[in-house]
Amino acid sequence: MNKKQTKGIEIENPSKYMTLTYAISLTIIALLSGAVHLMLDQVIEQQSQTGKIVNISGQQRMLSQRAGLFALHHLQTGSHDARLVALEAIDKMLINQNFLLQHHKENQNSDFSAELNALYFSPPDNVQQNVVKFADTVRRVLNSSEDLNAANLTTQKQYIVDRAKTSLLDSLHSVVEQYEKESFEKVDELRFAQNVVFWIIIFTILIEAIFIFRPMVAKVSLFASKLQREANYDALSGIFNRRAFNLQSAQQFNKSRENNQPLSVLMCDVDFFKNVNDTYGHSTGDEVIKMVAQVMLENTRNSDLVARYGGEEFIALLPRTSKHEASIVAEKIRRSIESIEINIDNHQLRFTISIGISDLKSADSNIDNVILRADEALYNAKEAGRNQVLMSA
Ligand code: GH3
Ligand code: MG
Ligand code: MG
Repeated sequence: MNKKQTKGIEIENPSKYMTLTYAISLTIIALLSGAVHLMLDQVIEQQSQTGKIVNISGQQRMLSQRAGLFALHHLQTGSHDARLVALEAIDKMLINQNFLLQHHKENQNSDFSAELNALYFSPPDNVQQNVVKFADTVRRVLNSSEDLNAANLTTQKQYIVDRAKTSLLDSLHSVVEQYEKESFEKVDELRFAQNVVFWIIIFTILIEAIFIFRPMVAKVSLFASKLQREANYDALSGIFNRRAFNLQSAQQFNKSRENNQPLSVLMCDVDFFKNVNDTYGHSTGDEVIKMVAQVMLENTRNSDLVARYGGEEFIALLPRTSKHEASIVAEKIRRSIESIEINIDNHQLRFTISIGISDLKSADSNIDNVILRADEALYNAKEAGRNQVLMSA
């Protein structure tokens, strides 16, 4: 049982602060999540574009082979179908090429790397020029093969074979590889961004824990202990109030019963307290109440339960204490009170208390029976002339 005195500290209800704190921390998390969402959105969009580009540039390789193969087949056999397949491949190739160039133009700042730029527009690859020339040559061969003289046709055939077999194929292959390489580099960048985001989130949570949640928990627990104090302690005297006494005295009663130990109760009341108030004022009366509480604390053990029971009425529950031992304590309290002198405007105020004592009997079913007998003994002490200690039967 804690008999420490407690002072009234002003602690604000933290509900407003908590609401604000929650709002701030949730806003930070919401902003962070929003930013990550937007970033991911952009990344997914970019990645799907990259996949498409790699796929189309891969198609170009296949189309160059298809166009070359079916064009030669047409020239050798005169197959109409082979000619259509070759023309279709060429058309698709040019459409793809336009798409890729268009894409580069739209994303010039972000997507068109120096390497790709060199592959498309500079020697030795010059992919853009070579694709167009290859398409032109194949078309010319397919559309006017009958008008071409034999020597010219052989040159054109040779050109198609050369391009399809090596130079154009290799260049197109280099383009695909370059796209793939850049795509992997982007994935690496994304991994890095992913790690950065992860650490930013961890850092934010840590900062929130330190600067938002920890002070909040401190405030709430301070407020909770203030409430607990107010619920159990008397604001004027700082000792336990009647509510706390009722809770703890019931436990003490059971404990004494279980262990078959004695237990005594002192009921104390200031004599003619009304006179103190009437003569010296209410605040002097308050001082007297505080002094009595102090004297009771000073004359009891830490394991005793001392409380303000009413206006100027105090109670002490003494575990493991017989009625006789309790009477010694009570007498000490009575005498201490009697010896107090308070000087007010050259007057000396002295006051006394009466004390009733009872102890636990085997017939008692709860602590109230014991308290009631102490109260009766107190009444008898008052009747017998006050400033004395009386024991119940
Ligand atoms: P008795 O000897 O019979 O006990 O006489 P009494 O005047 O002490 O008895 P009574 O119970 O009539 O008076 C108690 C007074 O205590 C009445 C009330 O105004 C005063 N009182 C109750 N609580 C407080 C308080 O917190 N502060 C002060 N100053 N007075 C209080
Ligand atoms: Mg009184
Ligand atoms: Mg009274």
